Amino acid sequence: MTSLSPTERASSSSGGAMRLVAEPGALRRLGALVDELAPSGEVVLVTDGVPKTFSGGDVDAAVAAAVSPGRPRRTVRVPSGSHGVTLDEATVDAVTADATGAAVVVTVGSGTVSDLGKVVAAALEVPLVAVQTAASVNGFADPLSVLVRKGAKRTVPSRWPDILLIDHDIVADAPSELTRAGVGDAVAIWSSPADWYLACALGMDDGRYDGRFVDPVRDLAPRLSDASSTAADRLSALVDVLTVGGLVIGDAGTTAPLSGVEHLFSHVLDMSALAEGAAHDLHGAQVGVASILSAALWDVALTDERVFDLDPDDLAVPADLEERVRAVWHPVDPSGALGDECWRAVDAKMRRWGAAAPAIEDFFGRRNEHVTTLRALAADPALPVAALRAWGAPSTFAQLRPAVSAERARWALSALPFMRDRLTLADVLVLAGRWDDGLFDRVLARADRAVGSVATS
Ligand SMILES: [Zn+2]
Repeated sequence: MTSLSPTERASSSSGGAMRLVAEPGALRRLGALVDELAPSGEVVLVTDGVPKTFSGGDVDAAVAAAVSPGRPRRTVRVPSGSHGVTLDEATVDAVTADATGAAVVVTVGSGTVSDLGKVVAAALEVPLVAVQTAASVNGFADPLSVLVRKGAKRTVPSRWPDILLIDHDIVADAPSELTRAGVGDAVAIWSSPADWYLACALGMDDGRYDGRFVDPVRDLAPRLSDASSTAADRLSALVDVLTVGGLVIGDAGTTAPLSGVEHLFSHVLDMSALAEGAAHDLHGAQVGVASILSAALWDVALTDERVFDLDPDDLAVPADLEERVRAVWHPVDPSGALGDECWRAVDAKMRRWGAAAPAIEDFFGRRNEHVTTLRALAADPALPVAALRAWGAPSTFAQLRPAVSAERARWALSALPFMRDRLTLADVLVLAGRWDDGLFDRVLARADRAVGSVATS
């Protein structure tokens, strides 16, 4: 590494769990790095087979050529459906079986392939090198994988890559929609920490809120909107924001610092598309638009609803909650299996709420202090809007591909507290009896004010 970038500083704080090699021409070092990790045996390259090119030609071919000459190597192609790769049980099992015998696994691709590689290398107990081909998500540099389990998106512990290799020449030539999606994933920093803080303060998260897992990303994020910097500087800012984001998630041991309401919204869109066999946009593209919505939700909850002025006694698990959870998922999966899976998660969350009474009392006893912090962590929706626009990334549902209709956006908003066990602001609004159409109208209108027709055009 030629200079000490913020990325390198942050990686050293992760205690050497993962080595980061990020620089122009980094791919030239791959052979030696692989030989260091596993001096002999077969090198298995895992790729989604989607053609990727850069100034050095075909990316997959360049990675294969970078393995030391004479070293046995083999390429495993991840099976994909009509809408790309889905990390369901069948895909994970098939690739693990195909890669058996590897002395080292090298993944080549964007976030999905990288997440798969972590699971496969963990199962095979072999070293892992992740060659990141796009600045599309923050999940490369962390020990977690987003998988599909029984049709539902689940974040599971997997493992760190031993080496994350980011060749700036490859990332710079990635398709622009991938880079724009990376900006979308990055802007979650302006709302997700508020959800995490809230969950911790209410005793609904195993950890404690710690600025170490948020501040490094918040400090870097304004560089995304810096109109005066060169294209190369802005790309390096994006790589830094995403890589530091992955590292802080990894250090925290949970995606929660950078994954709140906006990520739930994106997961809900993915799950409904998956169930219908339909296409959905990239994770980061959806998260970017949803981050505007999430910031709007926080603003409405704190300013109009003043939800934390309530007393703990005003918050109660709705009597018809199970019915509501099943009803929300029924159109997506009439078999009821997805409803079962999601109800289990929501039920666990609400049981935990029941057991968290002392922390909840304490929270409301010091509500002013907490609300001040929450206001600081949940930014004005104008911040994500400005960053997304600076990169030409989607900032409305209609700009997603395929476009998300106003009806679907409203449904996804209504569904997001009903999918998993992690508490966000949306759950508090459910418990307060405020999670209804009137609230959705105000949230969508607030987002519209920030961006101009986020939901409707
Ligand atoms: Zn994300």
